[in-house]
Amino acid sequence: MVIPGEAPFFGLTAASTAAAPSRCRILLVDDDDAVRRTLPHVLAEDGRRFDDCASIAEAIARLERTRYDLILLDYRLPDGSGLDLLDWLANAQREEAVVVISGEDAIDAAIGALRRGADDFVRKPYHVAQLQRAVHSALHKARLERTNHAMGQRLRRSERLHRYLVESAPDFIFTLNPAGLFTYVNPRVESMLGYAREQLVGRPFSTVVFNDDLPRVEVLLRNALAGQGTGQSQEVRLRRHDTATAQPGNALVTVALNTIAIQTRDGERDAAPPEGVYGVARDISERKRAEEIITFQAYHDQLTHLPNRILFKDRLELAIAQAQRRGGLLAVMFIDIDRFKLVNDTYGHAEGDHLLRGIAARIKQTLRKGDTLARLGGDEFTVLLPDIAQPEDAEIIAQKIQRALGEPFALRHGNFLATVSMGISVFPRDGEVAELLTQHADIAMYQIKRAGKNGFRFFDPDLNAHYRERITLENDLRGALTNNEFLLHFQPQISLSKRRVVGMEALLRWQHPTHGLIGPTSFIPVAEEVGLIGDISRWVVDAAAAQLAHWQGLGFADLRLSVNLSSQDFDRDETIDRVADCVTHHQLKADRFDVEITESVMMRDTADVMARIQRLRTCGVGISIDDFGTGYSALGYLQKFPVSSLKIDRSFVHGLQAPGANPIISAITGIAHGFGLHLVAEGVEHADQAARLQRMGCDIMQGHYFCEAVCADTAEQWLTDAERLLPRPAPASRQPGAT
Ligand code: C2E
Ligand code: CA
Ligand code: CA
Repeated sequence: MVIPGEAPFFGLTAASTAAAPSRCRILLVDDDDAVRRTLPHVLAEDGRRFDDCASIAEAIARLERTRYDLILLDYRLPDGSGLDLLDWLANAQREEAVVVISGEDAIDAAIGALRRGADDFVRKPYHVAQLQRAVHSALHKARLERTNHAMGQRLRRSERLHRYLVESAPDFIFTLNPAGLFTYVNPRVESMLGYAREQLVGRPFSTVVFNDDLPRVEVLLRNALAGQGTGQSQEVRLRRHDTATAQPGNALVTVALNTIAIQTRDGERDAAPPEGVYGVARDISERKRAEEIITFQAYHDQLTHLPNRILFKDRLELAIAQAQRRGGLLAVMFIDIDRFKLVNDTYGHAEGDHLLRGIAARIKQTLRKGDTLARLGGDEFTVLLPDIAQPEDAEIIAQKIQRALGEPFALRHGNFLATVSMGISVFPRDGEVAELLTQHADIAMYQIKRAGKNGFRFFDPDLNAHYRERITLENDLRGALTNNEFLLHFQPQISLSKRRVVGMEALLRWQHPTHGLIGPTSFIPVAEEVGLIGDISRWVVDAAAAQLAHWQGLGFADLRLSVNLSSQDFDRDETIDRVADCVTHHQLKADRFDVEITESVMMRDTADVMARIQRLRTCGVGISIDDFGTGYSALGYLQKFPVSSLKIDRSFVHGLQAPGANPIISAITGIAHGFGLHLVAEGVEHADQAARLQRMGCDIMQGHYFCEAVCADTAEQWLTDAERLLPRPAPASRQPGAT
């Protein structure tokens, strides 16, 4: 036996492990005290700790408390053989490395020990270096095993982790074999496509692909197998399995599909064919829906969900190209709702919107599937009839639309009978490009508006010029107020019995920079249409009130002055407020200031209009019904509204020339007297008209027979010197023209 403690071996072993001193615990099991004392010195090394015991029982007791890296085990022990401890270690699934040290020569002993899991067997007597090598390599092996074991565990954990990642992924992940059959699908397929996982494995990928997308997907898979085009995702529609139970529109799921070849043998990429395809399908239907909504909004009108101007132009251009190819015809209709502004201004935008939707729906009903109804904005719609046999076909549609609007719309404030003005242009006759066709349909629509609304007409190139004039008129009109181009003329109202001027009607004129003096009939309707009338009316009220103040200041205290207001002025407060303000501002005798309105205002009969009329009366301003008898002739409103005077329309006065008295005038004078109203006849052009009117009980009149509307200075002369200016009275017995 070699004496432990020989120096050279210490140095050697110490040096061999010095680089990586690792902690390790060693248990010596030997009943020989000398061995137990010397071995820790012989085997000493940085990090090594030794425990010792003398029997198997003792060893087990220690092992139950402590884990060791190595056991140096004597073969013969007082309470059994070393093999018993090896059995115990195996049973307890211990991982300690064991080096058996024994004096037994028998090879059987060595084999038995190694079979039972010992790592090495050293026979006594041994050289110290032999034992040191055995210990060293047993420890090294144990360390390797531990590392291996840890790595195995890490691998198992990482496999679990990857499996978890794949199985709980929000994406549909799958593998296919080279034949395109599913070899793996993750559970996401169940919620995404409604398949059980086992239903799909072994079936072709095409099972879940929407037919239209199949050719693309086939190319995609082929490329993936060829190692091409990976990394790019393709938008593909997959089919849900449970289409019957899916929500309508949910039968397809749009996914971004990524495929890549499965190549597990590293480094052999070029040589070995791939084992299949790995694919990830991400559900992008939400994003698609969002995209669709955004595109929809860009091309559709929010209120009616009809195509908008952009989409209409698009479709029109397409239809033109097709018509050109076919040599066919198409029609464009421009539709504008009559009096829509009235509804909007009077009842509010909510009602206006409601009406727009209702009208859109009814128009749509009259169209065929390929036709397009679009809303350009406001109350303007366009229709594209992409394929008509002859222009008259468009006419039939226009008539259909008129019939569809035949029933009134129920609004919150009552029924509204909507009518529309429609202009039609036909390709190629009226234009060969989209803009021109739309513009010409628009022009035709304006012509209908001019002609009294509610109807349709085809574009007429001859009338195009008028439209252009109208556009310039509109533009000039906007500048007229700021350029101070308006002025008032006054037409005296004469009391035949008193032979003097008792009133004046203020009539608006426009001193146009190039066209000269323009009468109101050619621009008031335009001003009403483009929304300028309110500003104009307020200008009129200001100017007229100032003029009346001037005349009252000159001493014409009884003089009445009337202004004409548009029915639109009763939709809002501003103009009415202005009248009240002016009366106060100029300290007018309010009962000398009149506002002339037409019967149509009365017919509106809403609480708001009523309140505004009442408001004028409250501050003393008179309400005069202009052109009385030409409108609705529903006299009920005379009782309801605080009307103060009536103006007999000049058409009735004109009718007086015909032989026989005109019963209407008698009726009107009767009404005026009955209701105690002031009465004025207008448009008196002849002496005998004046005479007859007077005989019928109408004393106050205005007309060219006396004086036309004149500038303020001339009107003032009428105030001061009517007797001189008045035509000489024609006695009833004398015939006109007799001397
Ligand atoms: P209106 O209120 O019925 O005015 C009477 C129109 O008859 C005036 O035409 C006047 O010049 C014309 N007239 C007067 N005497 C005779 C006659 O003996 N024979 C004929 N044939 N005509 C006569 P004017 O000035 O061209 O005004 C036309 C219409 O324009 C007015 O009809 C009125 O409805 C509107 N208007 C005039 N001024 C204003 C205004 O300041 N604001 C608004 N909103 N409308 C106005
Ligand atoms: Ca008038
Ligand atoms: Ca009138």
